[in-house]
Amino acid sequence: MVGNKNPVQRFFFMNFITQTVENSILENTLCQDLVEMKFLLLVTMITVGLAAEGGDWTYGDQSTWEGDCNTGTRESPIEVTGADKIVAYKDRIIFPAKATVKVETAGLKTVQLDFVNPPTFQMPSSWPVGHTKGLQALQLHMHWGREGEAGSEHFFMGKQFDGEAHLVCRNLDQEDDTAGDAYAVFGVLLEIDDSSIDVGSLNLLNILKSETTDFDFTQVYGEIRLSNMFTYEGGLTTPGCDEKVLWHLCSVPLKVSTLLMSKLRELGGSDYELNYRDLQPLNGRKITHRFLGMPYSTPEEEEPQQCDVDCYAAEQNCRWTNTAVESFPSILLLLIALFSLF
Ligand SMILES: [Zn+2]
Repeated sequence: MVGNKNPVQRFFFMNFITQTVENSILENTLCQDLVEMKFLLLVTMITVGLAAEGGDWTYGDQSTWEGDCNTGTRESPIEVTGADKIVAYKDRIIFPAKATVKVETAGLKTVQLDFVNPPTFQMPSSWPVGHTKGLQALQLHMHWGREGEAGSEHFFMGKQFDGEAHLVCRNLDQEDDTAGDAYAVFGVLLEIDDSSIDVGSLNLLNILKSETTDFDFTQVYGEIRLSNMFTYEGGLTTPGCDEKVLWHLCSVPLKVSTLLMSKLRELGGSDYELNYRDLQPLNGRKITHRFLGMPYSTPEEEEPQQCDVDCYAAEQNCRWTNTAVESFPSILLLLIALFSLF
């Protein structure tokens, strides 16, 4: 279990809800048929290779993990304590609506949802991955801790959350499977809160109970999470810990039920009670905070300074709308809400 929302989480949430809403339309993905054929084989490989797969290794003795695990320099997970760079982007990230999944646990050290027909989606033109040919969602799997204990892989500001979901995507812009940005993983922290469960938690539970086979992206990877992420260059969190992942960590956790976490442990089986890797050294890597928003100038500047992408707060003297007072749309929404009460 973890406690209530800390100040950092509150900031991120406020940051999100006060962003200027835009009406940009994501470009359609091109040549998807060709791309899907090309990567059909890769899907099978990745399904086996990127989850917490079976084998001789255990979570109890991570010092013996082979591959890059104990020799690499850009390993995962890490603790996020802030950002070295701030990037605002103006085009919304839109994932597919729904996709059919199949629950897999056999031979794995996780519970994994494999996409039957891996969907492809395009990232904004300013994004470091998937902006040309797109990203292809391969599978989603979960990490957790012992009952009553935290089990996320990434930490935020000193806090380990109850669990973590990883959506593993192939970067179709990158043909080299071993390149540092060959994959993009979207991590969502899971936080047990039975009093305010997110609908995405119910969707996941129904899938695990086989009451539905459709994973609803919008309930887990909707705008609230895709509009506010931290990215860094890292690797797989299971042996051989290949360093070929651009990590995306959503700053807004998913509120889940105790029942969902119990179901994960039940399906995971008795071989292991937890399945998260220990924190790895940052080794000087830079963390980027990316969010959908419209930057504006500091008060001392006469003309607003617009910088849609790669706007370094320190270098370009930009700031962002992050309080209700500074955000006109938020004030408008607040007034509408107040009037609606009378
Ligand atoms: Zn994972």
